[in-house]
Amino acid sequence: MMRLPRFRFVAPRTVGEAAAALAEAPAETMLLAGGTDLLPNMKRRQQVPRTLVSLRHVDALRALAPSEAVRTARNGSGFDIGSGVTLTELVRSPLVRNACAGLWQAAAQVATPHLRNMGTIGGNLCLDTRCTYYDQTYEWRQAIGFCMKKAGDICWVATSSPRCLAVSSTDTAPVLQALGATVRLVSAAGERNVPVADLFANDGIHYLTRRPDEILTQIHVPDQTGWRSTYWKLRRRGSFDFPVVAAAVAARLDGARVLEARVVLGAVASRPLTSSSAEAILRDVDLTDEVIASAADAAYEIAKPMDNTDFELVWRKRMVRTLVTCALRELRGDDVTPLRVSLARQTLLQPLAG
Ligand SMILES: Cc1cc2nc3c(=O)[nH]c(=O)nc-3n(C[C@H](O)[C@H](O)[C@H](O)COP(=O)(O)OP(=O)(O)OC[C@H]3O[C@@H](n4cnc5c(N)ncnc54)[C@H](O)[C@@H]3O)c2cc1C
Ligand code: SF4
Repeated sequence: MMRLPRFRFVAPRTVGEAAAALAEAPAETMLLAGGTDLLPNMKRRQQVPRTLVSLRHVDALRALAPSEAVRTARNGSGFDIGSGVTLTELVRSPLVRNACAGLWQAAAQVATPHLRNMGTIGGNLCLDTRCTYYDQTYEWRQAIGFCMKKAGDICWVATSSPRCLAVSSTDTAPVLQALGATVRLVSAAGERNVPVADLFANDGIHYLTRRPDEILTQIHVPDQTGWRSTYWKLRRRGSFDFPVVAAAVAARLDGARVLEARVVLGAVASRPLTSSSAEAILRDVDLTDEVIASAADAAYEIAKPMDNTDFELVWRKRMVRTLVTCALRELRGDDVTPLRVSLARQTLLQPLAG
């Protein structure tokens, strides 16, 4: 049985107390939300903080509500999500389901019901990057001499790589990026709001731009009136598994015409990747099969999956086309239920476009 290392445990009641506890020694302290990622990592000695600051009892982080501006104006559907809101609470929220289907779909596909009961949206955004050479026991990693991400100096995936190429595996981050969401980061020194797109860096070790003394307290999803969103995820097991390719698309539509769109890929780099060229193709055009195929091709070009997660990397890259095609067809209004079923059963094995 793997045991947790020894650590000091702090259980603040307010964001201010949590920020003060974190400020004492940010480099040696970690925040604990649901613990569904951090505690297994600590058991494998991937992360060994001296102090854990629990956010479980900070009630201010548990709110999910229409944002103040929207409540006042009484139109639109912008809303704020406390970082401590669990994925189950998110999935059960009619506000989320009605305003942004893509976020609902992503949250509903994270892990298992038990893990969603504990796991939070904040923890999901800050989820550690993953790699087959890293998500192993201490003894396994010791046997290969460790790697650059923890205790070693080489990357076993690409031995000449100067940086770690571990994979961004969060389901909700690509959608929140596509929705144009922002996060609030609070420290003892102050607070700042950052677009989700700027929260991430394409580096498997330093994958967040969040400073070690900052707490992600809130996510703001802007007014989604006129927008539709969706999330498509490839994983080994249909019941539960991390994404190995994902596509999040949000589009503002006028009938079959797409006025603007955001296309974000998950699990093909160390951060969620925006395809600007797909977005340029999807500006003020009818969403025809040809336009969808061109946008899917453009998204395919930027995907750089590495050989460090489930499934073969060339096929994972090709599946980017399939997932983007499925997403755009869904936003156009096609009945994609059979495609969802065959993706879950892994019978949707060939790219639909190209
Ligand atoms: C079997 C299994 C399957 C899983 N499948 C999936 C999956 O399919 N998709 C997926 O996305 N995830 C998956 N996960 C990972 C995890 O369960 C979820 O990502 C979950 O949402 C993490 O949230 P948490 O609250 O438990 O985070 P924690 O484990 O508490 O924290 C995760 C990280 O975020 C940091 N953190 C937490 N809250 C904050 C905050 N407010 N501010 C700053 N930093 C913070 C922590 O310090 C830690 O580094 C899986 C986990 C397991 C064990
Ligand atoms: S990508 Fe390389 S450095 Fe990063 S975890 Fe994997 S083997 Fe280690």
